[in-house]
Amino acid sequence: MSKAPHLTFDLDTPGLGRGHLVVPAGADCGELSLPVFSLNKGEGPRLLVTGGNHGNELEGPIVAWRIIKWLPEAQTCGRVIVLPVLNPLGVQAWSRNTPLDGLNLNRVFPGRADGSVTQRIADAVSRVLLPMADTVFDLHSFGPTWDFPPAATTHPIADPDLMARTVRMAEGFKLPLTLVWQHNDTAGMFDITAQHQGKVFVCTEFGGGTVGADSLAIYEAGVRNALIALGLVEGKAEYPTFRQQRSGQTLETRPSDELKSPAAGIFEPRRSVLDEVKQGDLIGILHSIDSLSAGSIDIRAPEASIVLAIASGAHVEVNKVVALIARPLK
Ligand SMILES: [Zn+2]
Repeated sequence: MSKAPHLTFDLDTPGLGRGHLVVPAGADCGELSLPVFSLNKGEGPRLLVTGGNHGNELEGPIVAWRIIKWLPEAQTCGRVIVLPVLNPLGVQAWSRNTPLDGLNLNRVFPGRADGSVTQRIADAVSRVLLPMADTVFDLHSFGPTWDFPPAATTHPIADPDLMARTVRMAEGFKLPLTLVWQHNDTAGMFDITAQHQGKVFVCTEFGGGTVGADSLAIYEAGVRNALIALGLVEGKAEYPTFRQQRSGQTLETRPSDELKSPAAGIFEPRRSVLDEVKQGDLIGILHSIDSLSAGSIDIRAPEASIVLAIASGAHVEVNKVVALIARPLK
C-alpha cells in the first residue's frame, strides 16, 4: 500500500507558507517532492497557480518564481498557492512529455494513485491542491517551433455561466490575445478536471517557448493584471506592450482553422501573428528540400481571418499544422 499524496505544511495557517507536495513513490521511481508556496490572507478568492506542466515551456516556472517574490508585499486578501514546477522530470529533460513513462501530464488528469509517475503527479494535484482553489492559472508556452502571441486561453465550456466567468477572467490578464480554443484533443486535460468541479481555469500560452526578458515582462504583467482583476492585489491593470501595441482582442479558433502542409518541407512565414488577412492572402510558402524543380507551395488564407500561430524553425512533415487562424469571438 503506497502512501497518499500530501503536503508537508498546513495551507490553512495564516500568512506565508513554504513546503512540498509529496507525490508517492511507485514502481517506476521514488517519491517526488514538488516545492509549493502559499500565502494565506484570510477571506477572499482562492487561487492556484501552476507552471512546468510541459517540461519544455519554461516561462511558466520563471513567472511563478517572480510572482512569489512580490506577492508577500502585494497580496491584500484571500489565498494564493503557487506550484512553479508540476513536472520536474519533464523540465529536467526539456521535454513536453515525461521521459520515464512517455506521458503528457496535461492529458492524464485527474490522474491515478496507482499509475505511472505522470499519472501520480496529476492525482496528487487533483486531490490535494485543486480542492483548495476556486480559480486556477496554468502557465504554459506554445512551444519552441511556433510564433504565438502572449495569450490567455480556454476551451469552450458547456456550462454558459462558467464559460462567461472564464472568458472574463482570461480577459483580465489584458494580454494581446484572449482565445477560446476548440480542439479535439482535450481528454485528460487539467482544465477539464477543474471545470468539472466548477472552477474557473485559465491556461496562458506564453509565446514560443524561447525564454527572453521582454516576453517574460509581458507574461508577468499579465499575471499581475489577473491578480488585480481577482481582487487579490491592488493596483491598476494595463495592457503590456507587444510589438509596439498596447491592446487586446478576444478570438475563437476551431479545428477547421488549422492550415496544414500539403507536402513535407520548410515553411517560410509571410505573415506575423495577429495580422489580419483577407481570403486568398499569402500566409506562407512551403519549400521542398528534395528538389529545386518541385517548386514551392503557397499556403493561403481560406477566409478573412486573423493569423493566430505560425510554424517557425523546424522542418515539417506532410499534413502537419503550419498556421492557425482565428476570428473575433461571437
Ligand atoms: Zn503546454
